[in-house]
Amino acid sequence: MSATSELSHLFRALKAPAAARALPKLAERARAEEWTYERFAEALLSTEQSSREAHGGEGRIRSARFPARKTLEEFDFTFQRSVKKQVIEHLGQLDFLHARENVVVLGPPGTGKSHLAIALGIRACLAGRRVIFRTATEWVALLADAQRQGRLDDELRRLERYPLLVCDEVGYIPFDPHAANLMFMLVSRRYERASLIVTSNKPFSAWGEIFGDDATAAAMIDRLVHHAEILSLKGDSYRLKDHDLGARPAPQTAERA
Ligand code: ADP
Ligand code: MG
Repeated sequence: MSATSELSHLFRALKAPAAARALPKLAERARAEEWTYERFAEALLSTEQSSREAHGGEGRIRSARFPARKTLEEFDFTFQRSVKKQVIEHLGQLDFLHARENVVVLGPPGTGKSHLAIALGIRACLAGRRVIFRTATEWVALLADAQRQGRLDDELRRLERYPLLVCDEVGYIPFDPHAANLMFMLVSRRYERASLIVTSNKPFSAWGEIFGDDATAAAMIDRLVHHAEILSLKGDSYRLKDHDLGARPAPQTAERA
Protein backbone atom coordinates (compact mmCIF):
# COMPACT_ATOMS: atom_id res chain seq x y z
CA MET A 1 0.00 0.00 0.00
CA SER A 2 1.35 3.45 -0.89
CA ALA A 3 1.87 6.01 1.85
CA THR A 4 -0.98 8.12 0.44
CA SER A 5 -3.55 5.36 0.45
CA GLU A 6 -2.37 4.16 3.86
CA LEU A 7 -2.87 7.72 5.13
CA SER A 8 -6.34 8.06 3.66
CA HIS A 9 -7.24 4.75 5.29
CA LEU A 10 -5.99 6.04 8.65
CA PHE A 11 -7.84 9.34 8.32
CA ARG A 12 -11.05 7.44 7.56
CA ALA A 13 -10.53 5.10 10.49
CA LEU A 14 -9.96 8.11 12.77
CA LYS A 15 -12.95 9.93 11.23
CA ALA A 16 -10.78 12.96 10.50
CA PRO A 17 -11.88 14.17 7.06
CA ALA A 18 -10.86 17.81 7.59
CA ALA A 19 -7.29 16.76 8.39
CA ALA A 20 -7.28 14.49 5.34
CA ARG A 21 -8.37 17.36 3.10
CA ALA A 22 -5.83 19.75 4.59
CA LEU A 23 -2.89 17.36 4.46
CA PRO A 24 -1.52 17.92 0.91
CA LYS A 25 -1.42 21.73 1.24
CA LEU A 26 -0.10 21.66 4.80
CA ALA A 27 2.64 19.17 3.91
CA GLU A 28 3.67 21.32 0.97
CA ARG A 29 3.82 24.43 3.14
CA ALA A 30 5.65 22.57 5.89
CA ARG A 31 8.33 21.46 3.42
CA ALA A 32 8.65 24.89 1.87
CA GLU A 33 8.85 26.67 5.23
CA GLU A 34 10.84 23.94 6.97
CA TRP A 35 8.40 23.47 9.83
CA THR A 36 9.33 21.33 12.80
CA TYR A 37 7.48 18.01 13.03
CA GLU A 38 5.64 19.37 16.07
CA ARG A 39 4.47 22.48 14.24
CA PHE A 40 3.20 20.31 11.41
CA ALA A 41 1.36 17.93 13.76
CA GLU A 42 -0.19 20.87 15.52
CA ALA A 43 -1.38 22.48 12.27
CA LEU A 44 -2.92 19.24 11.03
CA LEU A 45 -4.66 18.36 14.28
CA SER A 46 -5.97 21.85 14.92
CA THR A 47 -7.51 21.93 11.43
CA GLU A 48 -9.51 18.85 12.35
CA GLN A 49 -10.39 20.20 15.76
CA SER A 50 -11.73 23.56 14.55
CA SER A 51 -13.76 21.85 11.86
CA ARG A 52 -15.28 19.58 14.51
CA GLU A 53 -16.03 22.51 16.76
CA ALA A 54 -17.76 24.38 13.98
CA HIS A 55 -19.82 21.31 13.10
CA GLY A 56 -20.60 20.65 16.74
CA GLY A 57 -21.80 24.23 17.01
CA GLU A 58 -24.12 23.78 14.03
CA GLY A 59 -25.42 20.56 15.52
CA ARG A 60 -26.15 22.23 18.83
CA ILE A 61 -27.84 25.16 17.05
CA ARG A 62 -30.07 22.73 15.16
CA SER A 63 -31.03 20.77 18.24
CA ALA A 64 -31.74 23.92 20.26
CA ARG A 65 -34.53 24.67 17.74
CA PHE A 66 -34.24 28.43 17.60
CA PRO A 67 -37.19 29.94 15.71
CA ALA A 68 -34.80 32.07 13.62
CA ARG A 69 -31.13 32.76 13.27
CA LYS A 70 -30.06 36.02 14.89
CA THR A 71 -26.72 37.40 15.96
CA LEU A 72 -25.57 40.05 18.38
CA GLU A 73 -23.60 41.61 15.52
CA GLU A 74 -26.79 42.40 13.60
CA PHE A 75 -28.54 43.95 16.60
CA ASP A 76 -28.96 47.66 15.93
CA PHE A 77 -28.13 49.55 19.11
CA THR A 78 -28.92 52.90 17.52
CA PHE A 79 -32.54 51.77 17.20
CA GLN A 80 -32.74 50.09 20.59
CA ARG A 81 -31.23 52.66 22.91
CA SER A 82 -32.59 51.38 26.19
CA VAL A 83 -29.93 48.71 26.38
CA LYS A 84 -26.19 49.37 26.44
CA LYS A 85 -24.14 47.69 23.76
CA GLN A 86 -21.46 47.10 26.35
CA VAL A 87 -23.86 45.17 28.60
CA ILE A 88 -24.98 42.92 25.74
CA GLU A 89 -21.44 42.36 24.57
CA HIS A 90 -20.47 41.36 28.06
CA LEU A 91 -23.37 38.90 28.16
CA GLY A 92 -22.12 37.61 24.81
CA GLN A 93 -18.89 36.58 26.56
CA LEU A 94 -21.09 34.06 28.39
CA ASP A 95 -19.75 34.67 31.89
CA PHE A 96 -23.35 34.38 33.07
CA LEU A 97 -23.37 30.72 32.04
CA HIS A 98 -20.30 29.92 34.07
CA ALA A 99 -21.82 31.77 37.02
CA ARG A 100 -25.16 29.97 36.48
CA GLU A 101 -26.96 33.27 36.31
CA ASN A 102 -30.10 34.17 34.42
CA VAL A 103 -30.94 36.81 31.87
CA VAL A 104 -34.41 38.34 31.88
CA VAL A 105 -35.44 40.42 28.87
CA LEU A 106 -38.57 42.52 29.32
CA GLY A 107 -40.23 44.86 26.84
CA PRO A 108 -43.13 45.45 24.47
CA PRO A 109 -43.55 43.37 21.29
CA GLY A 110 -40.98 43.86 18.56
CA THR A 111 -38.33 45.49 20.73
CA GLY A 112 -35.79 42.71 20.18
CA LYS A 113 -36.32 40.35 23.14
CA SER A 114 -36.36 37.14 21.11
CA HIS A 115 -33.55 38.45 18.92
CA LEU A 116 -31.27 38.89 21.94
CA ALA A 117 -32.33 35.59 23.50
CA ILE A 118 -31.60 33.72 20.26
CA ALA A 119 -28.32 35.52 19.66
CA LEU A 120 -27.06 34.69 23.16
CA GLY A 121 -28.25 31.11 22.76
CA ILE A 122 -26.37 30.74 19.48
CA ARG A 123 -23.24 32.15 21.09
CA ALA A 124 -23.57 29.48 23.77
CA CYS A 125 -23.97 26.73 21.14
CA LEU A 126 -20.89 27.92 19.29
CA ALA A 127 -18.99 27.96 22.57
CA GLY A 128 -19.77 24.28 23.08
CA ARG A 129 -22.77 24.60 25.38
CA ARG A 130 -26.02 22.75 24.83
CA VAL A 131 -29.12 24.92 24.65
CA ILE A 132 -32.87 24.39 24.30
CA PHE A 133 -35.09 27.19 23.04
CA ARG A 134 -38.87 26.98 23.62
CA THR A 135 -41.71 29.41 24.27
CA ALA A 136 -43.18 29.39 27.78
CA THR A 137 -46.24 27.61 26.40
CA GLU A 138 -44.05 24.93 24.84
CA TRP A 139 -42.10 24.45 28.09
CA VAL A 140 -45.33 23.95 29.98
CA ALA A 141 -46.55 21.43 27.38
CA LEU A 142 -43.25 19.55 27.53
CA LEU A 143 -43.26 19.37 31.32
CA ALA A 144 -46.97 18.50 31.52
CA ASP A 145 -46.30 15.66 29.12
CA ALA A 146 -43.46 14.35 31.25
CA GLN A 147 -45.64 14.63 34.33
CA ARG A 148 -48.46 12.65 32.70
CA GLN A 149 -45.96 9.90 31.98
CA GLY A 150 -44.74 9.99 35.58
CA ARG A 151 -41.26 11.18 34.67
CA LEU A 152 -41.31 14.88 35.54
CA ASP A 153 -38.43 14.55 37.94
CA ASP A 154 -36.30 12.69 35.40
CA GLU A 155 -37.11 15.33 32.83
CA LEU A 156 -36.11 18.18 35.13
CA ARG A 157 -32.88 16.34 35.92
CA ARG A 158 -32.21 15.78 32.22
CA LEU A 159 -32.72 19.50 31.56
CA GLU A 160 -30.21 20.36 34.25
CA ARG A 161 -27.53 18.95 31.98
CA TYR A 162 -28.24 21.83 29.58
CA PRO A 163 -26.29 24.86 30.78
CA LEU A 164 -28.83 27.13 29.08
CA LEU A 165 -32.56 26.96 28.54
CA VAL A 166 -34.39 29.81 26.83
CA CYS A 167 -37.99 30.44 27.82
CA ASP A 168 -39.43 32.90 25.34
CA GLU A 169 -42.71 34.79 25.55
CA VAL A 170 -43.74 34.51 29.16
CA GLY A 171 -47.00 36.41 29.41
CA TYR A 172 -48.34 36.11 25.89
CA ILE A 173 -50.82 33.56 27.23
CA PRO A 174 -51.90 33.46 30.89
CA PHE A 175 -51.16 30.24 32.76
CA ASP A 176 -53.66 28.12 34.64
CA PRO A 177 -52.51 27.09 38.15
CA HIS A 178 -51.13 23.77 36.90
CA ALA A 179 -49.07 25.45 34.18
CA ALA A 180 -47.92 28.14 36.60
CA ASN A 181 -46.74 25.44 38.99
CA LEU A 182 -44.76 23.67 36.26
CA MET A 183 -43.04 26.92 35.28
CA PHE A 184 -42.25 27.54 38.92
CA MET A 185 -40.69 24.08 39.20
CA LEU A 186 -38.53 24.69 36.15
CA VAL A 187 -37.25 28.01 37.49
CA SER A 188 -36.67 26.64 41.02
CA ARG A 189 -34.96 23.54 39.78
CA ARG A 190 -32.37 25.55 37.87
CA TYR A 191 -31.81 28.05 40.63
CA GLU A 192 -28.03 28.40 41.15
CA ARG A 193 -27.50 25.24 39.06
CA ALA A 194 -27.92 26.31 35.45
CA SER A 195 -28.95 29.37 33.48
CA LEU A 196 -32.22 30.50 32.03
CA ILE A 197 -32.96 33.27 29.58
CA VAL A 198 -36.54 34.41 30.02
CA THR A 199 -38.31 36.96 27.86
CA SER A 200 -41.62 38.63 28.59
CA ASN A 201 -43.75 41.36 27.07
CA LYS A 202 -45.14 42.10 30.55
CA PRO A 203 -43.40 43.99 33.36
CA PHE A 204 -42.90 42.04 36.60
CA SER A 205 -45.80 44.03 38.08
CA ALA A 206 -48.14 42.15 35.71
CA TRP A 207 -46.75 38.67 36.36
CA GLY A 208 -49.37 38.06 39.06
CA GLU A 209 -51.97 38.17 36.30
CA ILE A 210 -49.98 35.83 34.06
CA PHE A 211 -49.54 33.24 36.79
CA GLY A 212 -52.99 33.72 38.23
CA ASP A 213 -51.70 34.50 41.70
CA ASP A 214 -49.38 37.11 43.14
CA ALA A 215 -47.63 34.79 45.59
CA THR A 216 -46.54 32.29 42.91
CA ALA A 217 -45.40 35.15 40.68
CA ALA A 218 -43.45 36.78 43.49
CA ALA A 219 -41.71 33.51 44.41
CA MET A 220 -40.83 32.88 40.78
CA ILE A 221 -39.51 36.41 40.19
CA ASP A 222 -37.49 36.14 43.38
CA ARG A 223 -35.69 32.99 42.18
CA LEU A 224 -35.33 34.27 38.67
CA VAL A 225 -33.77 37.63 39.47
CA HIS A 226 -31.62 36.73 42.47
CA HIS A 227 -28.66 36.09 40.16
CA ALA A 228 -29.65 37.77 36.93
CA GLU A 229 -29.07 40.47 34.41
CA ILE A 230 -32.37 42.25 33.76
CA LEU A 231 -32.73 44.02 30.43
CA SER A 232 -35.69 46.36 30.08
CA LEU A 233 -36.22 47.16 26.42
CA LYS A 234 -38.30 50.17 25.56
CA GLY A 235 -39.60 51.96 22.53
CA ASP A 236 -41.37 51.04 19.34
CA SER A 237 -41.39 47.76 17.51
CA TYR A 238 -38.45 47.30 15.18
CA ARG A 239 -40.95 45.89 12.71
CA LEU A 240 -42.48 49.39 12.43
CA LYS A 241 -39.10 51.04 11.98
CA ASP A 242 -39.82 52.39 8.52
CA HIS A 243 -43.49 53.14 9.13
CA ASP A 244 -45.29 56.21 10.38
CA LEU A 245 -45.53 55.63 14.10
CA GLY A 246 -47.75 58.65 14.73
CA ALA A 247 -50.90 56.68 13.97
CA ARG A 248 -50.21 54.01 16.60
CA PRO A 249 -52.42 53.91 19.69
CA ALA A 250 -50.62 54.63 22.95
CA PRO A 251 -49.39 51.43 24.61
CA GLN A 252 -51.46 50.18 27.52
CA THR A 253 -49.78 50.22 30.88
CA ALA A 254 -50.44 47.43 33.31
CA GLU A 255 -51.69 48.91 36.58
CA ARG A 256 -51.54 46.74 39.64
CA ALA A 257 -51.90 47.43 43.29
P1 ADP B 1 -39.75 40.67 20.46
O1 ADP B 1 -39.31 39.28 20.77
O2 ADP B 1 -39.32 41.68 21.46
O3 ADP B 1 -41.22 40.76 20.18
P2 ADP B 1 -38.08 40.33 18.14
O4 ADP B 1 -36.78 40.08 18.79
O5 ADP B 1 -38.80 39.15 17.57
O6 ADP B 1 -39.05 41.13 19.12
O7 ADP B 1 -37.89 41.44 17.00
C1 ADP B 1 -38.77 41.57 15.90
C2 ADP B 1 -37.95 41.61 14.61
O8 ADP B 1 -37.17 42.79 14.57
C3 ADP B 1 -36.96 40.46 14.52
O9 ADP B 1 -36.82 40.11 13.17
C4 ADP B 1 -35.66 41.06 15.06
O10 ADP B 1 -34.53 40.44 14.48
C5 ADP B 1 -35.78 42.51 14.61
N1 ADP B 1 -35.18 43.43 15.59
C6 ADP B 1 -35.72 43.87 16.74
N2 ADP B 1 -34.94 44.76 17.35
C7 ADP B 1 -33.85 44.88 16.57
C8 ADP B 1 -32.65 45.67 16.66
N3 ADP B 1 -32.44 46.54 17.67
N4 ADP B 1 -31.74 45.53 15.66
C9 ADP B 1 -31.94 44.69 14.63
N5 ADP B 1 -33.05 43.92 14.49
C10 ADP B 1 -34.00 44.03 15.44
MG1 MG C 1 -40.42 37.56 20.79
